[in-house]
Order: sequence, then structure tokens, then C-alpha cells
Amino acid sequence: MRRPAVCGSCSISSAARLGAALLAFVAKPLCTLPPAKLAQAIALSHWRTALYFAGTAWLVLALAVLVRLRTGSAIAKVAARVSPRAWLQGLVAAPLWLLILSALELPAALIGHHVSLRYGLSIEKWTPWWSDWLKSTVLTLLLGIFILRVLYALMRYSPRRWWLWFWIFTVPVEVLLTFAAPLVIDPLFNHFAPLAATNPVLVDQLERVAARGGLRIPPNRIFLMDASRKVTGANAYVTGLGGSKRIVVWDTTLRVESLNEILFTYGHEQGHYVLNHIPKGLAFSAAAFLFFYWIAFHLMQRLVRTHGQSWGIDAVGNWSSLGLLLLLASILSFLAEPVANTFSRDIEHQADVYGQEVIHGLVPDPQATTVSSFCADAIVWLDDPHPNRFVEFWTYSHPSTEERAEFAARYDPWLPGRKPRYLTRSN
Ligand SMILES: [Zn+2]
Repeated sequence: MRRPAVCGSCSISSAARLGAALLAFVAKPLCTLPPAKLAQAIALSHWRTALYFAGTAWLVLALAVLVRLRTGSAIAKVAARVSPRAWLQGLVAAPLWLLILSALELPAALIGHHVSLRYGLSIEKWTPWWSDWLKSTVLTLLLGIFILRVLYALMRYSPRRWWLWFWIFTVPVEVLLTFAAPLVIDPLFNHFAPLAATNPVLVDQLERVAARGGLRIPPNRIFLMDASRKVTGANAYVTGLGGSKRIVVWDTTLRVESLNEILFTYGHEQGHYVLNHIPKGLAFSAAAFLFFYWIAFHLMQRLVRTHGQSWGIDAVGNWSSLGLLLLLASILSFLAEPVANTFSRDIEHQADVYGQEVIHGLVPDPQATTVSSFCADAIVWLDDPHPNRFVEFWTYSHPSTEERAEFAARYDPWLPGRKPRYLTRSN
């Protein structure tokens, strides 16, 4: 039986909350899957969990073995033969290590796509899948070589403060990438067209949602993505920054959801837009990166001092340390996952609340619409209705569907004595 969702700062009284919690405890789940789909959803959830944790364990173990076998030293020697200049040696050491990393991550990616095909979540054939993999590997190489060469130059320039200099360098890079992603990177993988070009009537409806929130999102900032070439699930998201900021709706959403459900899905995305979740996310990750680099600095310094000789690592700023750095980055990223996901679940909940509030007055029953929107998506995504609590805490970027639906079903801030969290009553 699922634990009732926590109500956060919503304006439901304690008695009503207790009543709703008891009701949720004894009531049937809001999103019920047919038995065959339920069995598939549970099996898929097991696959995802196994792939994530086993994939991480494999990556960490393989990198640890490579470090122990002095691979860093061997690659640094090859690089030294190309040029005596450390800056140019990076053109050999960085791509070699990045290719090793891609190769180590490939088995989990292959199994993941095979499972997605088997459960009908993906319809992308293997040839286009490999083409996408190749494109993302080339992008990783280009960006990774540039960033790693800057990092190692900073390590040599300032052995004690490189973590701070590198942070100062990466913050604007992250902002720039967030700005450029929808303009340069995303179109490499999917086609985007203004939603108004194919669905002007829907855009009119969405404009009503925007107006209800006291907002004018220009129609040319709402895009339709041709997700149906690759996947069956529905989705929408906000991306970009400043001039590139936009709302993207997958074309699959138009097949899976009714008009009212689409209005909620759009309202949720508008919530991310209005509540400035992209700048907040950037600020959160900038703070996390500072901490991350500081820990990496101390661990690298200590490990190279104590084990450098046996692992063939001369100094932190030498290219021979790159394997160790990637190993530490993999471990730290894994440990940071629940922190990032807790932040993500919080802003997703805020967007849910906003979305439900902003469709009030536009759809007959905002609570029912929100619940049915979650349930429609859960069926196509084969969401496990009762995910393991630990797995949910560690890996879920959104609250579970059941938790979102339970909250939506009892959240009605328009009742007398209650107050909407984001919209004013006069809206
Ligand atoms: Zn969202």
C-alpha cells in the first residue's frame, strides 16, 4: 500500500488532509492499469532499476580496474610521443579516455534500447538508433576535449585553486549550453516546428491558458516535436534561456491526451516557464558543481599522493590522472543523483500545482482533468504504480504518477477558505 503523498504548503486544513490521507490509504489506486499492462509495467520497472544500478556498478568497477592497471600512464606516454606540450597531449589523452567511457556505457545503452523496443516504448529501428548514438558521441568528444583541456591547463596553472577556477569557467559554459541546446543540439536529433503551423486551433486554446496565468507566451515560442518517429510515450517540456526559451510539446501527446488533458500538460510546462525553473535549476547545479569540484580536488590530491606511484600517476595535473578523475566523477555523480532528483521532484510538484490552478475556469473539473492526464501518460509510459520507495528517492526526477494523481485529486484551492498557491482568486 502506498504512503499518502505529503501535502507541502498547500492550503488544505489538517483535518481535511488527515481525511484525504486515510481515504487514499483505503481507496483503490487512481490510475489502474489492465492486468497485462500492470505486469509489463512492473517488469519494465525492474529492468530500469537493474540497468541503472548495475550499469553504474559496471562503469565504476571497469574504471577502477583500468586505473589499477596503470592505463592512465600508458595513454599519457602515447600522448607524450605526439608532442612534448601538455596542451597538445590533451588532443590524444582526452578523446581516448572519452571513447573508453562511451564504450563502457554502451552495453547498458544497448540493453536499454532493446528493452524499450520489447515493451513498445520505442519504435526506433537500430540504424537510426546507432546514428543518434554516433552523433551524441561526436558531440561529447568535441565538448569533452575542449573542457578537459581547459581543466588540465588550470590544474597545472593553479594546483591548489584549480577547482575554483574551473567552476568559474564552467558556470558560463553551462548557461551558454542551456541557451544553445534548443537551437543547435536538439535539432540534430528531432524535428521541431511551430505548433501554430499545424495546430492553430490548439494554439488558440493554449493562449487561453497563458492569458489565465496573466502571461503572453508568443505562439512562435511553442513548438511541436516529431517524437512519434522514435517513441510512443507523451511528453512536453520547457527548454532554453532568454531568447531561446520555449515550450515543446511532443506530437505523441496529441494522440494520447484529450484536449483538456493537453491544456493541463501545457499548464504544467507554463508553470516551469513562469516560476523560472530553468534559472533556478542552473543556480542549483552551479552550487552543486562548486561542492563537487572541491571534493574532487581533495580526493584527487590525496589519492595521487598515496597511490600515485602504484597507479602510474605522476601528478594531478598530468594527463595520466584522467582515468582516476573520470572514476571519481562517476562515483560523485551517482551519489549526487538523489540530491538532484529531490530538487527536480520539488519543482515538478510546483509545476503540477500551477498547472492545475491555471486550468481552473477553462476545463469543467481541474482535479479530474489533472488526474486523467497523469493516468493517460502512465498507461503509455507503463509507469509502475507502486515503485520501490528507495528507487523512487534515488532515481525519479518526478514524483511517482500515483503520488501526483493522489495530490491532484484532493487539491482544490478554490473551495471557500482556501487559497491558490500561485494564482490569485481574481484570475
Ligand atoms: Zn515538468
